[in-house]
Amino acid sequence: MADSDITGEQAYWFAFCGHALLLRDGREVPDGRWPHPVGEAVVRTLPVGEIGGRACHAVELAAGFDAPAGFELVGYRALSQRLAPTQVRMAARALELLEWERSHLFCGACGSPTTRGMGNPVRRCSNSGCGRDHYPKISPVVIIAVERGPEILLGRSHHFVQGMYSTLAGFVDAGESAEEAIHRELFEETRISVANLRYFGSQPWPFPHSLMLGYHADYADGEIVCDPEEIEDAAFFRADKLPDTLPGPGTIARWLINDFLRRNGLG
Ligand SMILES: [Zn+2]
Repeated sequence: MADSDITGEQAYWFAFCGHALLLRDGREVPDGRWPHPVGEAVVRTLPVGEIGGRACHAVELAAGFDAPAGFELVGYRALSQRLAPTQVRMAARALELLEWERSHLFCGACGSPTTRGMGNPVRRCSNSGCGRDHYPKISPVVIIAVERGPEILLGRSHHFVQGMYSTLAGFVDAGESAEEAIHRELFEETRISVANLRYFGSQPWPFPHSLMLGYHADYADGEIVCDPEEIEDAAFFRADKLPDTLPGPGTIARWLINDFLRRNGLG
């Protein structure tokens, strides 16, 4: 992307303060020429791509930033209610790349400062004896809707908001396939085993760089025994008697649950 585009009148600005995105009137990604009224709060900017031929830039805003009149900081989890899906995906990319750059200012191999490469996101080690390129890393996470006839397995972690239940999830370990991770996670967390895994879909989740891989699975064997280190409670819930509080509509956890409900004649 040419530098001249950076101040282009058509650019979109995905400006984050922590995990909150600055939106005009609480529902539009700011566009037009930078700086906006928030120019002095900018810590860094980073080109992240384009939407419909319009350049998109990630912006890191200083901690404690106050949105000026006419703007609002909106938490990432609420963005699916405010923005088009293409903009939500770009917001995820912007948030991930800002975090990646912030944590790769020095080479992980030799400790020398890195510099921003051209083109693809890459941080290049400035030490000519090393010269490593550091690219953004993605961490796969499996998230599974286990079904037992008209029931679905839902659980809650200690950090969930009160009363919320969700599909179980866990990181894919080094040297492990997604399918192996599903069997291991479910057994570790609940002592049940499953069969007939069906891939459902995926969703980037920028906290800080996960890719959620959604699956349906059928219950096979075992009684639920929760691992108290991992989860507070887990149970099979009938489609017509789900917990009152479920994950938000912009999450793959909710899409898995909604898909289960549709197939059971609900939702
Ligand atoms: Zn190095």
